[in-house]
Amino acid sequence: MEPGRTIIGVDIGGTKVAAALLRGRLPAPGARTLADAERPAVLERFTAVTDGSSSAACLRGVEECLARLLASAGKVDAIGVGVASCVDYDAGRVVHSVNLPLGDVPLRDELERAFGVPVALDNDATAATVGEHTYGAGIGAREMLMLTLGTGVGGGIICGGRPYRGFSGAAAELGHLTLDLDGPDCPADCPNHGCLEAYVAGPAMGAAARAAAEAEPGSGLGRALAAGEPVDGPLLSRLGLAGDPVAVEVLARIGGLLGAGLTTLVSIFNPELIVIGGGAAAAGELLLGPARRVIAERALPPARDQVRVTGAALGPDAGLIGAAALALAKLRGGEPGPS
Ligand SMILES: [Zn+2]
Repeated sequence: MEPGRTIIGVDIGGTKVAAALLRGRLPAPGARTLADAERPAVLERFTAVTDGSSSAACLRGVEECLARLLASAGKVDAIGVGVASCVDYDAGRVVHSVNLPLGDVPLRDELERAFGVPVALDNDATAATVGEHTYGAGIGAREMLMLTLGTGVGGGIICGGRPYRGFSGAAAELGHLTLDLDGPDCPADCPNHGCLEAYVAGPAMGAAARAAAEAEPGSGLGRALAAGEPVDGPLLSRLGLAGDPVAVEVLARIGGLLGAGLTTLVSIFNPELIVIGGGAAAAGELLLGPARRVIAERALPPARDQVRVTGAALGPDAGLIGAAALALAKLRGGEPGPS
């Protein structure tokens, strides 16, 4: 068994930088299950607001997070970073960002110079997917997709047991598959209309909840609207989980749209597993059940009968833990996955 290592995992998002000191090791090759104790333990964490005023300010904020954790750790073996950007993994460069002031930055090499330890740098959604694949819901899967429902819809692909990043690191934008050519504008920095994200991300759930609240004033959603409470995705999920029939119906409709998107992905990738995570997926089976039914009705055999659709296991730490897995794999001289 490999020795345990001390790693800093960092998740650089558009609004916050989350960093954690972790201690752990990669699972044994071929592992299909993992006890909780075998997941990396978070020893300490530090979170800061992302400074988006300039590239230099943003990077200074990240380095301060790292320095803060290093000061208490004394020494770490490696650093893993997931960033909300298009990343050239092999070159260690941030290529392009939408929600961060980072474009064409050799971030891996800059951090290696600043801190003197190996650094692995990847896209944040890919890092979260690696986290779930290495330690969470996808342990042992060879062909796996992950969708993270939040403010937008993040995506990740595991192909042959390894992350798939595409020609320039821009792959796995699974939230931007087209459901309706004439659908609503995509809320992201995307010229398309009717993307999956426009129907199943948190803001779309909030809009669907408000429409239902107006149409059904006697429902839980309607009463919340009348009381001046925020009618949004989290309320929709809470009411649905409490059994409110209108909320359950709205979530089932959104789950069905998710299933329509997954139907396309099942036919393209023939995955054995699709993991759905993110805060906007809090209603769990109320979304996943309807999504599975649409896949069973609409996707092509035999792929539709082989795919499992399941909730994520690591919660909001998936990105940090995945970044740590990438760093541990770099120490071993490769990438997470079959060795
Ligand atoms: Zn889009």
